[in-house]
Amino acid sequence: MSQYSIRLYGDPVLKQRASEVTDIDGTLVRLTDGMIETMYEARGLGVAAPQVGVQKRIFVYDLNDGSGAKVIVNPEISEAAGEWTYEEGCLSIPGLYWPITRPKEVHLRGLDLDGNQISIEADELLARMFQHELDHLDGTLLLERLDGDQRKQALRDLRSRMLTQP
Ligand code: ZN
Repeated sequence: MSQYSIRLYGDPVLKQRASEVTDIDGTLVRLTDGMIETMYEARGLGVAAPQVGVQKRIFVYDLNDGSGAKVIVNPEISEAAGEWTYEEGCLSIPGLYWPITRPKEVHLRGLDLDGNQISIEADELLARMFQHELDHLDGTLLLERLDGDQRKQALRDLRSRMLTQP
């Protein structure tokens, strides 16, 4: 069992902007190991630090393409292009999915755990996941990416879901 559990919708930690990482040290490496374990336990594609209650600009991901789990420190999206609507969910809002329109391609920059610069041209699912995790670092949940009517319905679904949970 991982030392962390996924923070769920309603937890104030999910609404705050996370701070830049200033030191990549052993503590940070242990945090990312824990986040990766949590991600695999939850069967998610990515986990951002605020989702385990830590306000640091860092996320981990594994798209199950065989290349293993990766860590991005202080990520930034420098370019975005296109548009793509896709059914998107979130480990912090389990069981609910909404069609959300976002840029189809992004250019992500950040650091790896050795402090090396990372630069990734991503499209489709990878680009989607990067934008989703970056939103978490800014305290934005995917509900805020829905338009008016869609959002009202989503909040209704969420409320009934929360009321019927054991
Ligand atoms: Zn999420």
